[in-house]
Amino acid sequence: MIIAGMVKTSLIDFPGKIATVLFTPGCDYNCFYCHNRELIENVEDTLDINEIEAFLKKRQGLIDGVVITGGEPTLHKDLIPFLLKIKQYGYMTKLDSNGSNPEVITACINAKAVDYYAIDYKAPAHRYLEIARGNADVEQVKRTIQILIDTRQFFEVRTTVIPQLSIEDLIQMADELPTVPKYVLNPYTKPSLFLEEDQELIEMPPYSESQIKEFAEILKLYQPNMELIF
Ligand code: SF4
Repeated sequence: MIIAGMVKTSLIDFPGKIATVLFTPGCDYNCFYCHNRELIENVEDTLDINEIEAFLKKRQGLIDGVVITGGEPTLHKDLIPFLLKIKQYGYMTKLDSNGSNPEVITACINAKAVDYYAIDYKAPAHRYLEIARGNADVEQVKRTIQILIDTRQFFEVRTTVIPQLSIEDLIQMADELPTVPKYVLNPYTKPSLFLEEDQELIEMPPYSESQIKEFAEILKLYQPNMELIF
């Protein structure tokens, strides 16, 4: 398994759990507001997997779970064996994904490799490719979410409220998905690293917390399990 970054202890990445966060390199999307651009552009700079496994073994009993995030973890062929190894060490597992690989999510479910999923939903269907770029295909993301619902997994859907999304876009997004167990709105913050041609997009002023709270109240009509992350 290729791991390009690690946060040893996090209280915010796995709901209700103390977690170690592992970052995989590479992504099939190219969101202009990506906060992990060094991960999606530089897939060579990796950590020693033996050291990571030794760290996890040493911290058994002190940490509840391990979050695999990216980049896009489902692009890595040895993801499931790695998740199962982490579970063997006694950790709960959380997988963050852009939802682009429903087949891999199905395989994770079949292998019982993941305890909690977080799936991004980035834009209304008609703007998905414009916002997420790369190989983004909204139908794959919707399939992923439907599979998680049908198989009764623990999961959340997350939307970063970038300034390019209007309230009409957000309503459409909430409305075009089936009801999910948890729909999280994240505020947009400017990434430190971005493409030069995206400067204008990056500099657009973000919505305020109070605006996002107002949006959340409206969106609850479509997704009742709405939560905010501030
Ligand atoms: S899907 Fe996530 S990791 Fe990939 S480019 Fe978008 S924000 Fe970055």
